[in-house]
Amino acid sequence: MAEQVLCVQCDRPESTCTCERYCCLCQSQYDIRLCTDGQYYCPDCREACEIPLARIRVH
Ligand SMILES: [Zn+2]
Ligand SMILES: [Zn+2]
Repeated sequence: MAEQVLCVQCDRPESTCTCERYCCLCQSQYDIRLCTDGQYYCPDCREACEIPLARIRVH
């Protein structure tokens, strides 16, 4: 099993996290995903900061 990234707010994985999800940078609420640093980001900020998704399949 891949290493799971936990939400920094509730220490749960994205699948069970019930936190209100918004981008930690711009507060957008559109298409928010947990990233490898445990914070939620919108697609734009993810790309801008080059932060990988928490549950992306890598190699
Ligand atoms: Zn959470
Ligand atoms: Zn954003």
